Amino acid sequence: MTDLPDTPASAAPPPVFHARGLSKTYGSGELVVHALREVDLDVQRGEFIVLLGPSGSGKSTLLNILGGLDVPTAGTLQFNAEDLGQAGESALTQFRRRHVGFVFQFYNLIPSLTVRENVALVTDIAEHPMPVDEAIALVGLSPRRDHFPAQLSGGEQQRVAIARAIVKRPAVLLCDEPTGALDYQTGKLVLEVIARVNSEQGTTAIVITHNAAIAGMADRVVYLGDGRIQRIEKPPRRLTPAELHW
Ligand code: ADP
Repeated sequence: MTDLPDTPASAAPPPVFHARGLSKTYGSGELVVHALREVDLDVQRGEFIVLLGPSGSGKSTLLNILGGLDVPTAGTLQFNAEDLGQAGESALTQFRRRHVGFVFQFYNLIPSLTVRENVALVTDIAEHPMPVDEAIALVGLSPRRDHFPAQLSGGEQQRVAIARAIVKRPAVLLCDEPTGALDYQTGKLVLEVIARVNSEQGTTAIVITHNAAIAGMADRVVYLGDGRIQRIEKPPRRLTPAELHW
């Protein structure tokens, strides 16, 4: 990853993320945990990246640092050529609000609000949000927009969470085990929605999973182990979620 050809700055847009030597340690002394060790990674605009690796290999730590939820102990990180590694808390908050949509394993919807209201909540602090109904249509939930979370299945709730993440038109969609709590068919529907957002909106997507089959959907698969990038693979062809089997 470090030996990129020398191209004039004007020839190619900067990567969305440019990380060099990213490390993260927790604790100190004998109790120190090396969650991330000198990770180098460039993520291009519009890419679909899958992060694979065993539990504890550093996937969430990397995703959280890319998304401005956490800061590295060492190394540099740029977002669209702007320095993020040393940004203060308020700059990171601005970065997250403007540019990052998060989806986690659990949906964190507000039970007393309808689908529309859950999605609309976010648009107040967004600069150029899409219409709430457009975001809901993108995840295929228009007929359910006046329902409450408890009236929806787990997969539908996750799709609401995705609508909430993308309604502000973020540059990047970061997903930490988005299908971890879902059954096979429902998980596939959620993956289809993430793939659609990536292809139709051009949103850069980075998805953590335990499920190696999901790697077939990616432009590139980043394998983490013991806090390091073990290897990066480029599948010959991006599969649709319907083509995946596990
Ligand atoms: P993964 O997402 O691949 O399961 P994580 O990034 O969550 O891995 O964790 C990487 C390592 O860092 C693990 O050993 C984990 O226990 C440790 N770790 C993560 N967060 C913390 C924390 N807040 N305090 C201490 N150790 C942590």
